[in-house]
Amino acid sequence: MTAALETFGLGKSYGRGGRAVSALGALDLSVPKGLVYGVLGPNGAGKSTLLRLVLGLVKPSRGGFRLLGESSIDARVLRRIGAMIEAPSLYPFLTARETLRALAHLSGLNDPAREEAVLERVGLSEAAHRRVRTYSMGMKQRLALGAALLARPELLILDEPTNGLDPPGIQEMRVLVRELVEKEGVTIILSSHLLDEVQKVCDRVAIINRGELVSEGRVSDLISGQGGFFIRAAPREKALAILGARARPQDDGLVVDIPPDAAPALIRELVGANIDVFEARWLTQSLERVFLSSMDQSQ
Ligand code: ATP
Repeated sequence: MTAALETFGLGKSYGRGGRAVSALGALDLSVPKGLVYGVLGPNGAGKSTLLRLVLGLVKPSRGGFRLLGESSIDARVLRRIGAMIEAPSLYPFLTARETLRALAHLSGLNDPAREEAVLERVGLSEAAHRRVRTYSMGMKQRLALGAALLARPELLILDEPTNGLDPPGIQEMRVLVRELVEKEGVTIILSSHLLDEVQKVCDRVAIINRGELVSEGRVSDLISGQGGFFIRAAPREKALAILGARARPQDDGLVVDIPPDAAPALIRELVGANIDVFEARWLTQSLERVFLSSMDQSQ
């Protein structure tokens, strides 16, 4: 299956000569279809630049990419993509229904049933007759997402979709993003600087810092195991004595830093020494710790 997005040494510098600023170094990425892919990084990391490049809004300085299997962005490819870049600019005097009608008209779509389905999808059916000026930021953001969904895109590209939203708005956006992927098979690439958000909504993530890729993988793999192997055993002091420098006490047990395949031998060692093992599990690490340690390594 073709990837939703592949980049090959993709890079961008703004400005020329001695004043050139490298926003993106030379990025190699492959984003599979059918999931939520997060591009994570601190302010200025190059997230927006990456999304702008793959949408054809800015030209690469180096390398290239393929989006939905296509290596050049034209109207035909863009019809398969929905995008939300920067804060939505919506006419305050139109209602949500009128907004979608106008946008559909501009795009040559004539399918009022689709507009109603989109309003329903983004949870705006009941408020569809109200003027946008009366909307909360979260409702505006959902309407902008609705606009991006009108043409039934295979791929959605969302730049900081939770920017400016309050916690309930963030939660609504998260549910919407997951539903689009799980129920409608849309692929979503989103950028965010909110670690917790990315951990909750994304299946896979690329962490970038100063335009360079510092970590990439499934969120569950990135956070699993990295917190160590927790064992609750008795007598604990005897277990600690056997494991020596490999273990440290934590809560009512101990934590050992070992690779995943060393766990069975470790448990056998303890049981062989007549120690009762009540609990043994891998501790997960928050994405925040993965993020901060990859930032340290990239400095
Ligand atoms: P943020 O979360 O703050 O939006 P970001 O990760 O999206 O950050 P970019 O907006 O891609 O980062 O910016 C990456 C770097 O490129 C920054 O140093 C920024 O100042 C610079 N940059 C971005 N756009 C331009 C431009 N049009 N001209 C010059 N420099 C730019």
